[in-house]
Amino acid sequence: MRVFTLFKEIMANLVHGPATRKYPYVRRPDFPGTRGRLMIDESKCIFCGLCARKCPSDALEVTRKPDQMWKFDQYKCILCAACVEACPKKCLRMAPRTEKYPDEE
Ligand code: SF4
Ligand code: SF4
Repeated sequence: MRVFTLFKEIMANLVHGPATRKYPYVRRPDFPGTRGRLMIDESKCIFCGLCARKCPSDALEVTRKPDQMWKFDQYKCILCAACVEACPKKCLRMAPRTEKYPDEE
């Protein structure tokens, strides 16, 4: 019985090909409702700091003086989207995981 099951598995794998993808060349599309990753359109940002104040995991840092800076630590982010909801200029959004940051290769 076991030999038959094994043979069936082997034949199925030969016919259907590998069950895995050639990651990172072929990526699985996000599941519906996946929040992905946080993206900003810095040209719209007014550096008000509301997003940083709403962030429960301290993943954002915003300064207005002496220099305007919006800093994001993706390893602290829990993808709650509280910052996206809080932003008055709508410059934050949750993007698909496959979308890259501007400084990413
Ligand atoms: S998605 Fe949530 S955890 Fe991530 S930066 Fe925004 S508020 Fe912070
Ligand atoms: S809430 Fe929006 S406009 Fe304000 S600092 Fe954050 S990203 Fe910029």
